[in-house]
Amino acid sequence: MSNPLLVFGQLPAFSSILPEHIEPALDQILSDNRAQLIDILAVAGSEGATVANFLQPYAEMEDKLEQMWSPVSHLNAVANSDVLRDAYNACLPKLSEYSTELGQHRELFDAFSSLKTSGQFVSLNDAQQKVVDNALRDFTLSGIDLAPEKQQRFGDIKKRLSELSSKYSENVLDASQAWSKCVEHESELVGLPASSLAAAKQAAEAKELEGYLLTLDIPCYIAVVTYCENRALRQEMYTAYTTRASEQGPNAGEWDNSPLMVEILALKDEIAQLLNFNNYAERSIATKMTTDTDQVFSFLNNLASKSLPAARNELFELQEFAQNNYKTDTLYAWDIAFYSEKLKQEKYAISQEELRPWFPYNKVLEGMFAVASRLFDVSFEEVSDFDTWHTDVRLFHVLSNDSENQGEKIATFYLDVYAREHKRGGAWMADCKVRRRTSSGELQLPVAFLTCNFNGPVDGKPALLTHNEVTTLFHEFGHGLHHMLTQVEESAVSGINGVAWDAVELPSQFMENWCWEKDAIPMMSGHYETGEGLPDDMLDKMLAAKNFQSAMQMVRQLEFSLFDFSIHCYYQQHQIDKVSIHHVLDDIREQVAVITPPEFNRFECSFSHIFAGGYAAGYYSYKWAEVLSADAFSLFEENGIFDKTSGDAFKQNILEKGGSKEPMELFVAFRGREPNVDALLRHSGLTA
Ligand SMILES: [Zn+2]
Repeated sequence: MSNPLLVFGQLPAFSSILPEHIEPALDQILSDNRAQLIDILAVAGSEGATVANFLQPYAEMEDKLEQMWSPVSHLNAVANSDVLRDAYNACLPKLSEYSTELGQHRELFDAFSSLKTSGQFVSLNDAQQKVVDNALRDFTLSGIDLAPEKQQRFGDIKKRLSELSSKYSENVLDASQAWSKCVEHESELVGLPASSLAAAKQAAEAKELEGYLLTLDIPCYIAVVTYCENRALRQEMYTAYTTRASEQGPNAGEWDNSPLMVEILALKDEIAQLLNFNNYAERSIATKMTTDTDQVFSFLNNLASKSLPAARNELFELQEFAQNNYKTDTLYAWDIAFYSEKLKQEKYAISQEELRPWFPYNKVLEGMFAVASRLFDVSFEEVSDFDTWHTDVRLFHVLSNDSENQGEKIATFYLDVYAREHKRGGAWMADCKVRRRTSSGELQLPVAFLTCNFNGPVDGKPALLTHNEVTTLFHEFGHGLHHMLTQVEESAVSGINGVAWDAVELPSQFMENWCWEKDAIPMMSGHYETGEGLPDDMLDKMLAAKNFQSAMQMVRQLEFSLFDFSIHCYYQQHQIDKVSIHHVLDDIREQVAVITPPEFNRFECSFSHIFAGGYAAGYYSYKWAEVLSADAFSLFEENGIFDKTSGDAFKQNILEKGGSKEPMELFVAFRGREPNVDALLRHSGLTA
């Protein structure tokens, strides 16, 4: 019997992967790798480490693990089940142990060091040099210089942290799925768009229930709080949503993440101390584009001071509007989105829902591909027959379009965009395989997973996207292009690998810009029944509404960023416990927020980015990268949005280079100067 997870060099056989394959495959690879490492290091030790006898075989063994694990981790996210989850979780401590072992491996460190100090280092290419430099940096960050008992402690902490973050996301998922409400009569859902009503009805039917099933899935939750006239229902769903995985709300205490957060923060701080940093924020930026913690605070505070006055005005306008037109006494948290939508309607007479018919999914896809083709000289080809985890999934090849290698396959990606049960919420890009040159000289092409959570086709209509969803798709596609158009052949710095976290959102946010351009929108829109283009007046309104409440959105992102950075930077000062985490958030809100959420709001308990993802003391990266992407796009504003020379420059200096050079160096090569915040403020309508 063969294990489908141990077959390499082709696309994963998703339909054959069973939970019982997972742990044995991992055990096999880890034990093979451990044995192989001994051989590699023996040779490197006696002959002296070289690219051929060390760097390449080492990358190859690491890639094997990556190729085995990425489909597993993907399935765990998009086709979750209890057995799969158990198998996945059983592997986490083993993976963590293995990575700690490598991170503190003295002979491995010596091999990298000797490559660095030997005469041959200067003859290595940029990517190879960067691999060596990153490896040496990461050894230090993995505690290579620690005394044995401290190394042991470091390893134990890492292992515990990986369990805690997995538990944290499970709690969020379970708490989200535990809540649902079946509403019998449509009369209770007045205001809800037809598409959301149909989706809720379909959800009820799938469970053999009468009426409409409401859940905390993003499309449903957003629709209710934005459109539903029923204030009590909005309040009920807002409460359920913002208390997920906490000691508050309808499932209070059942999946409470509070104790996990306390332990996570304590362990992160301990790691920082072990490595001689003052705090975890310093540890976080050691691998980022930013150079010190003050720079991050002043970056965020500068944006806050530039946005706060406008944000206060926006809120004031909303309050006035709600009072004058709807006689509302107080605006509660569950009223904000609802009246904002009404105000937006009054000012611009356009809603996301009204736009849906003009953005059928296939047309959007076609337009997105056309934009990428014009900018980056590529084309796309759909593959009809392939092995998958769900019938909704589609597969595409990316082909070269430049005259020299016309039609040559460059990369492949899976596209899985509809929300469904057992699929993690949100949108993301993940790598399945990375571009690299194998030791036999072949080129392994990159493969990506692009995942979103849009409403699927309902009532015989094709899936119709809101403009927000179109933007989300472009965003993830931007990550995908970064991963897939790379020309780097060293896996550790190929595509998005090895790219500093505060620069990794550059290509994704950059691609969003085309969703806001008059010359690009007709390429991605057309009425699903008539094919007719988005009427000019709607287009104008949509563009005019772009910066509606942009200052309020800005300060909200700044609130999350400052909370994340402060709690990691000032951990020692705060003496963190369950209560004080919430206090830190309250303090930050006092400084930069214009809306004070109700006391029961426990946003921090589902802030998976920082407690379960890789964004601890790094959430600011989104804003940082927005500065980069806005500034990068301003070159296209100057030269034309389909300017070939600018497109080539972006492709060659950013997309193709991946993590092979420092992001500042790449940005300067592309833009001719260092980035500044002007373009972002201008795009957000925040310049005087
Ligand atoms: Zn992103």
